[in-house]
Amino acid sequence: MKLAFILPAIGKKKNRKYMKSWTMEPIMIAVLKRLTPDDIETVFYDDRIEAIDYDTDADIIALSVETHTAKRAYTIAERFKAKGKRIVMGGYHVTTVPEDARSHADILVLGNAESVWEDMLRDVETGNYKNEYAGDVCCDYGQPDRSIYADKRKKYLPLGLVEIGRGCHYNCEFCSVSSYYKRAYAHRSIAAIVQEIKENPHKVYFFVDDSIFSDKEFAKALFIEVTKLHIHWVTQITLDIARDEELLSLMAASGCKVILIGFESIDPQNLKQMNKEWSIKVGERDALVERIHNAGISIYASFVFGFDYDNEESFKNCLEFSRRHQFFVAAYNHLLPFPGTATHERLCREGRMIYENWWLSREYTYGSIPYHSKLVTAEELGLLCKKYKKAFFCFSSIFTRYKTLKKRTNVTYVRFAYWVTNLMLHWEVNKRFGIPLGENLDEKKR
Ligand code: SF4
Repeated sequence: MKLAFILPAIGKKKNRKYMKSWTMEPIMIAVLKRLTPDDIETVFYDDRIEAIDYDTDADIIALSVETHTAKRAYTIAERFKAKGKRIVMGGYHVTTVPEDARSHADILVLGNAESVWEDMLRDVETGNYKNEYAGDVCCDYGQPDRSIYADKRKKYLPLGLVEIGRGCHYNCEFCSVSSYYKRAYAHRSIAAIVQEIKENPHKVYFFVDDSIFSDKEFAKALFIEVTKLHIHWVTQITLDIARDEELLSLMAASGCKVILIGFESIDPQNLKQMNKEWSIKVGERDALVERIHNAGISIYASFVFGFDYDNEESFKNCLEFSRRHQFFVAAYNHLLPFPGTATHERLCREGRMIYENWWLSREYTYGSIPYHSKLVTAEELGLLCKKYKKAFFCFSSIFTRYKTLKKRTNVTYVRFAYWVTNLMLHWEVNKRFGIPLGENLDEKKR
């Protein structure tokens, strides 16, 4: 039996290249390859960087589906179905809205695949398979098998992706991680993580977790072991890491250089609405940010606009806050109601969705707003995101922030990464708007 893994792309503008910043190493495919028995032949097509061979002799087509790639995934599935192939789909989107994917697939893998992947493949071999397999929350897969994309690695961003755990103990209203894992958290063994880092040498690693310290004692033990590896790494984390000074200093000592913090908003009313008021106590935000900077860790600050108390003042306040702290990078994105989240349910209930299933809509494009925000129109909200991104990524801002960065760190790689990231995001501000989902991906130009 032969299995073709396919990672569908988001979409691209006509005759334009695919967004470079969207081409990270596809670690989930390496995990699935590890779970696949050796006697099953495999091939992998990464739709983001190469053409799919629709004439492949594979018997099964396995698609990993996210909300932004759902439309493309369904198109690919239909083409293969017409050739009589078995279609398997899994991933966050399929798990959250299985009804969306059901008509395009023979088999859905819901939840984490680890506990059911091999059984599913064996059932397909015998022809006696189920239409749905439900996996438990688990990330016990040993070592991802990166040989599946060894020949394509040069085309990915130069970051070694490593997964520490899955899930998050918080419950933010808009968050698909929270709706998917229901506040559960599972992590890999420290031995498996350390071995993976040793076997997969990179200049810098991205620990792809959403909340790396959901289990504090585990995080401390992990940081102590990672310190011995003398690596540099980046991750996503919540601001309250800085409340625990021991944890913060262990994290810094272990080589953490940049963290993405989802501030989302600095308006207390918005934070309350999104169920994230735990993230900050009055007057605490600036002190926590400074504590992180003083530990030698730079911050990628992420803000989301379009909550019910947002207007242009909110953007101005965030820009002022970003400049005050001279962030490494800042993102000014709009709220996107992902299916299965409480935000999507609320906006549907309130009759505010412009495109309820925006991920399938022909009219919706990446960067536009699929719902009615309260204090500004959807169109104004999109324009404000663009305007304030431009303000943050203008050349004078990039140079000014670099002067501060030089005082904060003497690590050459961090300084280099600063320029690469800021210049890439500077040039991508306009390019990121108006990308049609699932379109123009069969063009030769990528
Ligand atoms: S802290 Fe982050 S990962 Fe956790 S629920 Fe909130 S947004 Fe999601």
